[in-house]
Amino acid sequence: MKKEPFVTLSQVREMAEQYPTPFHLYDEKGIRENARKLKAAFAWNRGFREYFAVKATPNPFLMQILREEGIGVDCSSYTELYLSEKVGFHGEEIMFSSNVTPEEDFKLAYDLGAIINFDDITHLPFYEKIAPFRETMCCRYNPGGDFAIHNAIMDTPGDAKYGMTKEQMKEAFRCMKEKGVKHFGIHAFLASNTISEAYYPALAEILFTLAAELKRELGVHIAFINLSGGVGIPYKPEEEPTDIMAVGEGVRKAYEKILVPEGMDDVAIYTELGRFMLAPYGALITKAIHEKHIYKEYIGVDACAANLMRPAVYGSYHHITVLGKEDAPADHIYDVTGGLCENCDKFAIDRPLPAISVGDYLFLHDTGAHGFSMGYNYNGKLRSAEVLLREDGSTKLIRRAETKEDYFATLDLEHGFDL
Ligand SMILES: *Cc1c(COP(=O)(O)O)cnc(C)c1O
Repeated sequence: MKKEPFVTLSQVREMAEQYPTPFHLYDEKGIRENARKLKAAFAWNRGFREYFAVKATPNPFLMQILREEGIGVDCSSYTELYLSEKVGFHGEEIMFSSNVTPEEDFKLAYDLGAIINFDDITHLPFYEKIAPFRETMCCRYNPGGDFAIHNAIMDTPGDAKYGMTKEQMKEAFRCMKEKGVKHFGIHAFLASNTISEAYYPALAEILFTLAAELKRELGVHIAFINLSGGVGIPYKPEEEPTDIMAVGEGVRKAYEKILVPEGMDDVAIYTELGRFMLAPYGALITKAIHEKHIYKEYIGVDACAANLMRPAVYGSYHHITVLGKEDAPADHIYDVTGGLCENCDKFAIDRPLPAISVGDYLFLHDTGAHGFSMGYNYNGKLRSAEVLLREDGSTKLIRRAETKEDYFATLDLEHGFDL
């Protein structure tokens, strides 16, 4: 599918007068439409709720848009919990799915009334020293081995640090039941950025089967199954978008097949999507500031891997549109690079693109999740601004760019450095 930017060159030119490049730009209309589609796909399940994975895009304005669409939050750290509370999330609108959890994080999660999802059996006694169990608690499952769909290995949970074995799940549920817990949730995250419509249904089958077994053996009430994140998006033009209606229908079929015959037709389905919720509705807007002709052709831009690290660390593909040259032939081969003193700081390698001139604006697609949030300050590079394109076409600065004062906020540069 052809990848189309959600803004035009003239819009970006106007924005750049107000907000110097680089900046991350988000599309409110796309975010809302997609959120409604997800809810429609799971409308068959009475208790369905999406808990947006805050780590993907921890911006309170974007979280507020999702909140208005009836979406909760999935947090994994103290600051994500704190931010969520500031946006107005509370109680069971917050899922706390964390690992290697510090004491104060559990404490805040308890104080906010969040649903706590234990990553490990040893977290139960650790947590009990901090706070009592609530009526509803959740545990994260790791089935071990390989996770395959139609014999194709999607990922290897056996090598992943997350979750409990089946025996540990049983022990944890038994222990919490004895201590008065009444409702239980089961959570698992087995594969990331899947573009197969079969991922959620395959995961659901595993978790529904486990849920039925736990209910039968331990007599516990399973209140929800959390399918977590992992539904992917088409980063490349040749990939197809995930048909979320088909995903919802696949999960419904597994529900009818496994849970309904067990009399478990009140189980709510939860999701914790990050990438699927926001990635396509964000872009990194950057300007070409240099060209270089040595053994290869380089275009140097004003953004770098500190603004978007996925290409540098994962070799991820992010599609690039040269704004104003959408229909020009891609008859030049470029490496598009940032200015870090690291050769991996390349947004694209040997990429066919139209001829680029200094001053052109580039639209790096699909940076709405795991984009800004993974940013860092290496080489003294500053974090960029985040800008929201409203549904009415206006823009709003939803996070200003960092200044050198922000960078040095943890140092006192004025009073000398005598040891
Ligand atoms: C990262 C994460 C998610 C979101 O993953 P996506 O790939 O962005 O959908 C959800 N739940 C947990 C526990 C995570 O760590």
